[in-house]
Amino acid sequence: MEQIVAKARKAFATGKTRSLDFRVQQLQALKRMFIEKEEDIKKALIADLNKNRFSSYTYELMGMFGEINLALEKLSEWAAPHHVAKNLITMRDEVYIRYEPLGVVLIIGAWNYPIVVLLQPLVGAIAAGNAAIVKPSEVSEHTAKLLEKIIPQYLDKDLYPVVNGGIPETTDLLAQRFDHIFYTGNTNVGKIIMSAASKFLTPVTLELGGKSPCYIDKDCDVDTASRRITWGKFANCGQTCIAPDYILCDKSIQGRVIEKIKETLTEFYGENAKQSPDYERIINKRHFKRLLGLMEGEKIVIGGDNDEDSCYIGPTVLADVKPDAKVMQEEIFGPLLPIITVGNVDEAIEFINEREKPLALYAFSNNKKVIKKIIEETSSGGVTANDVIMHFTVTELPFGGVGHSGMGVYHGQHTFETFSHKRSCLIKSLKMEGINQIRYPPFTDKKLGW
Ligand code: NAD
Repeated sequence: MEQIVAKARKAFATGKTRSLDFRVQQLQALKRMFIEKEEDIKKALIADLNKNRFSSYTYELMGMFGEINLALEKLSEWAAPHHVAKNLITMRDEVYIRYEPLGVVLIIGAWNYPIVVLLQPLVGAIAAGNAAIVKPSEVSEHTAKLLEKIIPQYLDKDLYPVVNGGIPETTDLLAQRFDHIFYTGNTNVGKIIMSAASKFLTPVTLELGGKSPCYIDKDCDVDTASRRITWGKFANCGQTCIAPDYILCDKSIQGRVIEKIKETLTEFYGENAKQSPDYERIINKRHFKRLLGLMEGEKIVIGGDNDEDSCYIGPTVLADVKPDAKVMQEEIFGPLLPIITVGNVDEAIEFINEREKPLALYAFSNNKKVIKKIIEETSSGGVTANDVIMHFTVTELPFGGVGHSGMGVYHGQHTFETFSHKRSCLIKSLKMEGINQIRYPPFTDKKLGW
């Protein structure tokens, strides 16, 4: 690990990443990799998660093309000196912010979207002129192995090495000095990362998870809400960091919500989701068993069917779940959707605020005032109202958590800024020395006008 990082540092020190042309050439090469290796990538995603064709293409490949194309189009604008307003004293000077690369950064990815959560940050790291050590999740092992093989075929090998491995290797890696660490994964490991980074005062971006609530107001088009929630919850078999974790709604609409989710599930996946080519699988047996444990003792109103051999758990809805239930104590990260009933929007807000700040928050209502009230009176990494997940797709919006759901942001220009140092630059003229007399001693009464 020491050698890999030293090699990257040496390559960075040559100064070649300072050239925008070099960064563009690397980004183009990364884009070429996604075009030329599309089939291999899709196969690896099927092997890891049974990702369907649509999901592989839209969430992973299109997610990458979108970020790369934007960086290619905007890089010269993002990297240009940003001139700021001047005051009387700096009127004749040059005052600007310069975006500088940080140096050698470490990017650690998670397994649920093993391409985008690892390589979207890399786009920003390259665009900002850094060297980057890329560490895929060992849990999505087929994708990890593939990336280790193909990335060096396209990108500079010294500047952007791929390091594979589990906890021991990542621990060794974290013993090295980096100029930034960008981590995506669970909150407990987030704390390990932050503590390792503190040894070198390395800044961190932590893209973590949490329980993202989804409130459905009584005054709401329940059919549309349920349809959108069904899509966002059960895509990727619920293994999405911003999937709605649980529903909060009035008891009077719980029945309709369940009925509509059931109808939508049949429409999306047929009578048996296990047979559907569009329904994914749980990543491994450990998570499979964890999820079965979360269902224990709950009132299963939809699904609950499972098969350990194929890591299949059908789309499952749990009704009348109590706030102290096991399923409400940790992020679910799987296809289980608990419904908790509340008396009104104030109770929902209280429920949300009593818990850690989530990565995402969803609210469905016909009444904009209700939506605005929820946004005003709660906090979360991001919000989508009257839909789920979709704020993630707006590149202009910074994506990240708050509190226990993470720190720092990325996507588009925000990634570029995350991997840049904003250097304050003031270039003064050596002329007009007269106006400086006021700041030089001796500070006589006459000079100060006292
Ligand atoms: P994971 O098991 O793949 O772990 C993430 C990374 O941490 C891996 O690269 C792994 O090697 C490393 N790691 C694991 N244990 C470690 C240790 N003890 N020391 C050092 N490194 C270690 O993924 P996960 O944590 O199961 O991922 C799921 C979590 O990630 C969920 O909480 C989800 O919400 C969150 N997530 C967040 C985002 C986001 O953008 N905010 C995106 C995807 C996933």
